[in-house]
Amino acid sequence: MLKGKTALVTGSTSGIGLGIAKALARQGANIVLNGFGDADGPQAQVRELGVKAAYHGADMSKPAQIEDMMKYAAAQFGRVDILVNNAGIQHVARVEDFPTEKWDAIIAINLSSAFHASRLALPAMRAANWGRIVNIASVHGLVASAEKSAYVTAKHGLVGLTKVIALENATTGVTCNAICPGWVLTPLVQQQVDARAKANACSNEEAKKQLLAEKEPSLQFTTPEELGELAVFFCSAAANNTRGVAWNMDGGWVAQ
Ligand code: NAD
Repeated sequence: MLKGKTALVTGSTSGIGLGIAKALARQGANIVLNGFGDADGPQAQVRELGVKAAYHGADMSKPAQIEDMMKYAAAQFGRVDILVNNAGIQHVARVEDFPTEKWDAIIAINLSSAFHASRLALPAMRAANWGRIVNIASVHGLVASAEKSAYVTAKHGLVGLTKVIALENATTGVTCNAICPGWVLTPLVQQQVDARAKANACSNEEAKKQLLAEKEPSLQFTTPEELGELAVFFCSAAANNTRGVAWNMDGGWVAQ
């Protein structure tokens, strides 16, 4: 379905981003990966699916490096047809205790990076009259939780940015939508499981159960593979007129 297209997925060396990159690769898209840590393993996993893979290690908190990554992607494959703004970090603390450098980093990586990558991707998408921007927001783009001020602010902002980009391109073949996952067991959430296990002096399994029971009625984690299939839908022809939605895949979290 996506043969000949190029997808750039930010923060795709792990977790949800890698899951989405692989789902798009299974549909035939060539992939530009980004993120920290090992890049060879993720590139090999994508190439095993029969498509081309490239990697750029831009720090998504740095606009100049994002510009460099977008130029690199265009030089590798001609154009970015699909942009998945996924890179994100978390920090948990009450507002009065929130380290200001963590606030700045979360706003830069979880929100401003999507603005920068999108503004740089849109001209070529519009020229081709086809493009897909998929923003990985969160249930925290729709509702709040205590001790996540920067994350909730960034994700609500990302849902807002999604709607604006959708509207500005509404008469074109370029769409922009957001995915709002509930709990997904990735390194980002494992840190929160570990912190809870320590604070409550309980096992890792017990901490996972507590985390789910608090917010997610299904008592199940959403998987990167399931989120990847939703991204594939947003990239399909069936989603040609799906514009500006913030679609939660969250085991019922936001339905409560
Ligand atoms: P993860 O920690 O497994 O992956 C994050 C990725 O972002 C990694 O590849 C990491 O290297 C990359 N990254 C971090 N900082 C970066 C930077 N400055 N520049 C470039 N890359 C950077 O986390 P995840 O759970 O897969 O999260 C992916 C996205 O999904 C995030 O935006 C997160 O907010 C969102 N999300 C996660 C959950 C969840 O439960 N895990 C729920 C809702 C939304």
